[in-house]
Amino acid sequence: MTDIKTRLQEIRAQIPTNVRLVCVSKFHPAEYISEAYANGERDFGESRAQELMQKIEVLPKDIRWHFIGPLQSNKVKYLVPTTYLIHSVENEKLLAEIEKQASKHNVTQRVLLEVHIAQEESKHGFSEEELNCFFSEERWKQYPHVEICGLMGIATLTNNDEETKEEFRTIHDLFNTTKEKYNSESFCELSIGMSHDFPLAINEGATMVRVGSAIFGERDYSKK
Ligand SMILES: *Cc1c(COP(=O)(O)O)cnc(C)c1O
Repeated sequence: MTDIKTRLQEIRAQIPTNVRLVCVSKFHPAEYISEAYANGERDFGESRAQELMQKIEVLPKDIRWHFIGPLQSNKVKYLVPTTYLIHSVENEKLLAEIEKQASKHNVTQRVLLEVHIAQEESKHGFSEEELNCFFSEERWKQYPHVEICGLMGIATLTNNDEETKEEFRTIHDLFNTTKEKYNSESFCELSIGMSHDFPLAINEGATMVRVGSAIFGERDYSKK
């Protein structure tokens, strides 16, 4: 745990000030978050609704919580309106549920649309075609309580940097063409890059990187 400060300094040194670092704290205890908080971090990423709610209870109120995990419709009610940004909106069904919950609370929920850029079938997200349709047909108009702030992507898990760069470039191009079509000022975030590939993501236009194990160490999935 004493390593967190040192690791954060090393990572911070690689991130320009205009790129936001989201510290991915999933599966790690609240004390780890407090340690990063004491070092000035305010953006934390979680992947399970239950765990997020428990942490919100005990941690400072000025933390910006990012939800980055696979999301089921029945969990959306736990995330709205306390989550600062939901990165992992992978289909329109989720948008409809977020709209319902946000409208109930009379708030606007900020989200990113997740795009499927990896080779792995198991990964989630809108296909390029679905995304293009969504904006060409102006379907976002159906969700007035949702603010679409940009795109999120997860690259293929590989040691081949060229492949990773290619995937990041694809989503960056998609981000640019979408921004032109959508023409909304709120559409300005590109969330790409994790512990092993965030420097590549920054080179390819990331505005947010999601870094977990490089800060907090390996996760123990057997706990909880
Ligand atoms: C867990 C997770 C991360 C962080 O992964 P690390 O490799 O630990 O940096 C980033 N993004 C998403 C979507 C995740 O689920």
